[in-house]
Amino acid sequence: MILRQLFDRDSYTYSYLVGDEKTRIALIIDPVLDQVQRYLQLLDELGLALRAAIDTHVHADHITALGDLRKLTGCDTYLGNRGDIECADQGLVDGQVIAIGDLSLKVLFTPGHTDDSYCFYIEHQARRYLFTGDTLLIRGSGRTDFQNGDPKALYESLHNIVLAFPDDTVVYPGHDYKGWTRSTIAEEKAHNPRLKLPSKAAFVAHMNSLKLPDPKWMDLAVPANRGCGKV
Ligand code: FE
Repeated sequence: MILRQLFDRDSYTYSYLVGDEKTRIALIIDPVLDQVQRYLQLLDELGLALRAAIDTHVHADHITALGDLRKLTGCDTYLGNRGDIECADQGLVDGQVIAIGDLSLKVLFTPGHTDDSYCFYIEHQARRYLFTGDTLLIRGSGRTDFQNGDPKALYESLHNIVLAFPDDTVVYPGHDYKGWTRSTIAEEKAHNPRLKLPSKAAFVAHMNSLKLPDPKWMDLAVPANRGCGKV
């Protein structure tokens, strides 16, 4: 399996290019509009054909490259089906499996950060990879104060779905603001302060107390992303 973690400096976003070595088919998770040329270059250099582009949720802090990648490569685009996203070719459904050559990516509905948030799971050669979007971040989690975010739902997604994966599952988050690149379920269980809050009520109270400023691109990004990246 080919896996490249790609960083967007403006929004601290991680995008992931996942490719099947044998069939040379690839998928990209959470691509950023400003980075499209870089993705095309890397696909070309690695000899990969992009089959699908997929967002973990409608982002508030950057503009998606789904629309442009579809135009330029003919790939399919996938987004959650709860956000009225008409331009995505396919909505995501909990439990759905997306094939990338011989690899399969399993879709998990994990609402809370937004009401259209999903995680993606791949198991390959006894290794487990979990792409957590903004549901689980390294030593943190996504915020829950806009886009129908819900701290109760996030608590349940984290504790019932994400932490149910085996300890050795590698966690690849949607962002990191400190330069951490990946973690594991065991590491997050042991060291993520938000996962160690003693109860759902304590988690909800903590999330509701974070008075965070709005993301700088939110007013532009959310409507643009509902149109698959049309600015
Ligand atoms: Fe987000």
